Amino acid sequence: MRDMTTSDISWLFEPHTQALFMRFPLPLAILGHDGNIKQLNDCFNKTFDRECLNSKNLQKILQEVEHSIYEPVPFQCDECGAEVFVRAINLGDNLILILEKSAGNTHNSELIALHRRVLELEKISVTDKLTGAWNRGYFDRIIPIELARSLRYRQPLSLIFFDIDHFKQINDTFGHAVGDTVLSELVRLTNANIRASDMLFRWGGEEFMILATSTRYHAAESLAEGLRSRISGHDIDGAGRITISLGVAEYVSEESEARWFKRADDALYAAKNSGRNRVVVDAQGNSDLWVDDSENSMVLHLNWHDSYDCGQPVIDAEHRKLFDLANVLMNMAFTRGEKPQEFHQALENLLAHVIKHFADEEAILAEHHYPDLIRHSSAHKHLVERALQLRDASLAGGVSVGEMVDFLADEVIAKHMLKTDRAFYPLFEK
Ligand code: GH3
Ligand code: MG
Ligand code: MG
Repeated sequence: MRDMTTSDISWLFEPHTQALFMRFPLPLAILGHDGNIKQLNDCFNKTFDRECLNSKNLQKILQEVEHSIYEPVPFQCDECGAEVFVRAINLGDNLILILEKSAGNTHNSELIALHRRVLELEKISVTDKLTGAWNRGYFDRIIPIELARSLRYRQPLSLIFFDIDHFKQINDTFGHAVGDTVLSELVRLTNANIRASDMLFRWGGEEFMILATSTRYHAAESLAEGLRSRISGHDIDGAGRITISLGVAEYVSEESEARWFKRADDALYAAKNSGRNRVVVDAQGNSDLWVDDSENSMVLHLNWHDSYDCGQPVIDAEHRKLFDLANVLMNMAFTRGEKPQEFHQALENLLAHVIKHFADEEAILAEHHYPDLIRHSSAHKHLVERALQLRDASLAGGVSVGEMVDFLADEVIAKHMLKTDRAFYPLFEK
């Protein structure tokens, strides 16, 4: 299940959550990450003045509570001079503050219960009740985040839109309750056949959407086809076999979200119209620009261009090898879960190469009396430190593919090798 921390807390303002906050027996304030007050509950309004949370006080409070969760921190109000005790609960990028006139240690268990309830409510607010799939509201929240991530890390993003064939007949024949079971069973089967990083949403009725991250349309088509075939071969208790029709569309830069969904919807419509129980793919996407086609791979691939040669044979050979090793690693990143050993070996190989290459390059530049050598060496040192940090975090399982790609493609290759290194190219021009 995906981490749901996001700065969006609109679910907090839905009626069932509101009731819990407004009537909670302790004074509560919900703050945004920048300290703006989003809400004060009834008890807060009865006990304190809004001015107690003016920006000067807030700044002090936020400093105080930064490292204390649940523990009351004493605080003197600049406005009324009153001593209060403040506690904090983290809520994604937001914070719930509990202000009290006494230290109130006895309330700890209530707060822990509140925190737990808040997390439950957040989960409920993004889940479809019948099937347990994510709901459409959550899709709307997630999509801008995933799109930004996709563009930033140059990772393709695909939609698979699907709909049960002749579902109305299933209801008519077996009854609504069996129809409901079919929907739940379909979600269970689908979740069992997609990767943990793919997200399944109930779009409405008997329509569902899969958001497949780091997946180009070719791979999404295979995923959809696999799903279609699994579903059609499965007997559902009380209803027998069902089939689904699927439409696939990968995101294309600069199109609106609406156009992207429309392409997925059109593909689904085409699948329905051409006989159902099939996949139709809209064969275009950003990955056409990002991925080496001959590779037929779903991951980012770095291509070497002759213009990257500086004319110094050792440096050029090592730069090319850097591309190769980075490509190997990025390919491995997607099977890291299944083959952790291989992934870490690829990471170690790349690291060892980077360290050796930086040393070789510095020696060659020194030989050629490169005037900016000190700064260049320090840039190397910084990159190696960051690489070692990432390696350690990766061993601990704490580095995403995105971060790894960002660092390699952006910091090492795009910024350092293709920009910073350019400054020494004139040394080797004939
Ligand atoms: P097609 O192959 O063209 O998709 O035909 P269809 O019969 O599946 O599509 P249609 O849109 O005509 O019917 C969808 C049906 O799904 C009608 C609606 O009553 C039923 N439905 C929607 N939501 C639910 C639900 O939560 N539970 C049950 N049991 N049925 C639902
Ligand atoms: Mg249908
Ligand atoms: Mg329908």
